Amino acid sequence: MKESHDTENRPPRSIVVIGASHAGVQLADRLRGEGYTGGITLISHESHLPYQRPPLSKAWLKGEASIDSVLLRDPEYFAQHEIEVLSSARVKELVRTAGGVEVRFSRASGREPRRFDRLVLATGARARRLPLGGAEHPDVLVLRDLDHARALAGRLTAGPIAVIGGGFVGLEVAATARTLGAEVTVIVAGERLLARAVGPDTAGTLLAAHRAMATEVVLGAVPTEILHDGAAIRAVRLNDGREIPAATVLVGIGAQPRTELAEQLGLECDGGIVVDERCLASDGWTQAIGDCTTHVSAAGSRYRLESVDNAVEQANTAAAVLLGRPAPARAVPWFWSDQGDQKLQITGLIRDHTSMLVRVDPERPKRRVALYFQGDTLIAAECLNSPADFVALRSALGRGHRLGPELLADTDVPLRKLLAPVPG
Ligand code: FAD
Repeated sequence: MKESHDTENRPPRSIVVIGASHAGVQLADRLRGEGYTGGITLISHESHLPYQRPPLSKAWLKGEASIDSVLLRDPEYFAQHEIEVLSSARVKELVRTAGGVEVRFSRASGREPRRFDRLVLATGARARRLPLGGAEHPDVLVLRDLDHARALAGRLTAGPIAVIGGGFVGLEVAATARTLGAEVTVIVAGERLLARAVGPDTAGTLLAAHRAMATEVVLGAVPTEILHDGAAIRAVRLNDGREIPAATVLVGIGAQPRTELAEQLGLECDGGIVVDERCLASDGWTQAIGDCTTHVSAAGSRYRLESVDNAVEQANTAAAVLLGRPAPARAVPWFWSDQGDQKLQITGLIRDHTSMLVRVDPERPKRRVALYFQGDTLIAAECLNSPADFVALRSALGRGHRLGPELLADTDVPLRKLLAPVPG
């Protein structure tokens, strides 16, 4: 049942956000920035002040980051902006009431139900675990939060590392661990890296880069067991019988949206909380933002994005809707991943393309750009080590630039010239 949306004209007196990470903090920040003076409460079951996740697989593991350098906002920011942050508080139950929502959560101090006018779910995702023999060993790790990063950092020089999965987090950790001198094997079930995220050219280039760093990459292999003697891990056994030596195993097989609270409220979930372009869930009242969501586009197709950019964009949209203002136009999505000396930046959505082409700077072959088209319309690009091209492409995509493959194929002309806005 769709409810009437009473925020069209009257902002709520209090807003509760479950989850205090990229999406939740941005929402609070945007609400205050837009002049909202009501109560804002962020609830997180983590014990730390809100922090950034991207450095966890990069600078943090290299020992180049501290808790202070990864905080999303300075500690005094929240008090200064009258944003209440309830840390170490796990929300167990949400109950819709006539005037809003009752939030039931547990803290060390006990259970403290609280009532709020409006509810936003920013519950993110959890790392997927492997249902394998041996996977319960304490040196089989995942990486989603700061506590995981601390545990992993302590294992990087403790012997060989096996990374299960060829996704962004696993590859970033593999590159960081190699930089620190660890012996690293990446085990990938498919025939290429990043199969769901990038095209074959970018995947192939990254594969070559990881192998050039002396990372062992095993493609087309499925782990069947983690072998240990109770005290220490010895190896990962593969489906072909091979044993990959390992003292530590990082399971990097993706993240699973946290939808339990949404399901409890009876909201539609389909690999994420289903939200429309205003970040409204299926009851037309609850909002959901960030990694916990599945988008429904105006055309009805469903897709999930897991990125800081998406968390920030959806938070900005949710803030506008809560204040009864029109949702801002959606900026072109983007994502980045740093893997050793490889800097990947993606812009646009690589879906249903009809053609693609790869531009390589002959004088600087490490710079590659893969362009994706629907007919003569550029829809997305992957840029390796080409930040200037990325900036030009993102801006061109934002303007809805129609530039066919033939024109962009001319590598003698720099992309930023080809993509320069047409005057007038
Ligand atoms: P999350 O960051 O997952 O936060 C959700 C919060 O809600 C968590 O703190 C969780 O504990 C809390 N929560 C959930 N349920 C409850 C409950 N019941 N009670 C209380 N609290 C609850 N993205 C990029 O764009 N570029 C990168 O380079 C990049 N690198 C990454 C590296 C790593 C190691 C990881 C893990 C992610 C990376 N990402 C990157 C992805 C990016 O961090 C996520 O897209 C982003 O964190 C999503 O933010 P979020 O607020 O939606 O959810």
